[in-house]
Amino acid sequence: MNVPDIIIAVDGYSSTGKSSFAKALSARLGLLYLDSGAMYRGVTLHAMEKGLVREDGSIDSEALRASLGGLELHFERSAGKSLLYSGARCIEEQIRTLEVSAHVSPVSAIPFVREWVDERLHSFAREGRVVMDGRDIGTTVFPDAQLKIFMTADEKVRAQRRFDELCAKGQAPVLEDVLENLRERDYIDSHREVSPLRQAADAFVLDNSAMSMEEELAWATGLIQGRFSLLEAPTC
Ligand code: C5P
Repeated sequence: MNVPDIIIAVDGYSSTGKSSFAKALSARLGLLYLDSGAMYRGVTLHAMEKGLVREDGSIDSEALRASLGGLELHFERSAGKSLLYSGARCIEEQIRTLEVSAHVSPVSAIPFVREWVDERLHSFAREGRVVMDGRDIGTTVFPDAQLKIFMTADEKVRAQRRFDELCAKGQAPVLEDVLENLRERDYIDSHREVSPLRQAADAFVLDNSAMSMEEELAWATGLIQGRFSLLEAPTC
């Protein structure tokens, strides 16, 4: 499919498979994939490593603000994967732990953290042709995105998916903890003052509780073809 220079925003609840879907869609359409959640996780890991997340989970936000000047996060592509780097160090594995997940929502509710991340997201996507996933991409980061998709799925299905993902990475999670973390993040993400998680009025809803990735992609490509009057490239 010959896709024009569009930005596709994929938002939704935690562990709805946004990243896998956005990644697969970007590969199919020949667009760049950008994971905004990885950026918030990167800032959270930075705060944890600097000792700015207190025992009670609260954040030393003044010290965090001061330390952000020394933080440089960027993505590098390797073997079809998009990996987050902090300077020269690949932090992809560290940002995916349950510990980082436990602190990421309070960190991303801080307004100056959102500004810091948004600035970088705009810079990464300056040439367009991007599929970006997150919580506020279609509402705040790119309110003019040409296509907005809002993903949702049954809570138990989501918890099981995240559980399987963590197990596959060699971690030993407890299913109830994973479910609790999803609920907590969704609550904080939907109730924060700045850029809360919500469905954009012009977003198309994708409930993938009982869908395979192939079905999700067929749904999305059908939508894109219809919306941009595109024809499937003839195969020889
Ligand atoms: O997408 P992922 O689950 O990795 O995102 C981790 C966290 O980052 C979310 O729970 C949310 O708190 C935050 N986030 C956000 N805005 C985005 C993307 C992620 O607040 N656009």
